[in-house]
Amino acid sequence: MEQNILPMKDENNRIISYMAIGNDITAKKEVERLSEIDKLTGIYNRRKLDEYMESELNRAKRYHQPLSFMILDIDHFKNINDTYGHPVGDSTLQTLAKILTDNLRKSDILGRYGGEEFLIICPETDNNQTALLAEKLRACVENTLFDDINNMTISIGVAEFEGENTVKELLSRADRALYQAKHNGRNCVVVG
Ligand code: GH3
Ligand code: MG
Ligand code: MG
Repeated sequence: MEQNILPMKDENNRIISYMAIGNDITAKKEVERLSEIDKLTGIYNRRKLDEYMESELNRAKRYHQPLSFMILDIDHFKNINDTYGHPVGDSTLQTLAKILTDNLRKSDILGRYGGEEFLIICPETDNNQTALLAEKLRACVENTLFDDINNMTISIGVAEFEGENTVKELLSRADRALYQAKHNGRNCVVVG
């Protein structure tokens, strides 16, 4: 509910009562939520991640605090879809989103960046700490028994803010690290 409370005054400008006007904003809130949440996994979508990357980069610049980005990509996910079908692929994405959510701090910002790629924004975290977290997530996924498919792995690229001017620059360094992780044989973490 959105509430507005207005004072009612007499001719001498004295408050004699109040009038409350209530507005049900449930629908507005739902639209807001839908615009920032990924439908399949229930975590932030790319649009919201783009907003957070901008605001966190500005904050890191202004307060000279560390900031790291982590990009995760499922290894050989196409094989999972091809072997077990798209619905199993979908539920694997949902399970992965839950594993990631359960293993992050409240201050970390997790979202689905696209397809089978996830992004984690780690405010006030340097790349050593982020690499430790990435390694923990990688090992956790490797050791999880997923429904239907049993096992799968992820590759992770990490980059810490080093005075870049734009989100695009920092993100592309994380992306290059991810590419290197794939090149190194997958199921590993590379710090860019
Ligand atoms: P790599 O180890 O190099 O990352 O290989 P990959 O197979 O994971 O990568 P590739 O980019 O070839 O394939 C990604 C696959 O992800 C293909 C696409 O169909 C699948 N995918 C993307 N979004 C979804 C989704 O929402 N649900 C399902 N089930 N599959 C998806
Ligand atoms: Mg991919
Ligand atoms: Mg992949």
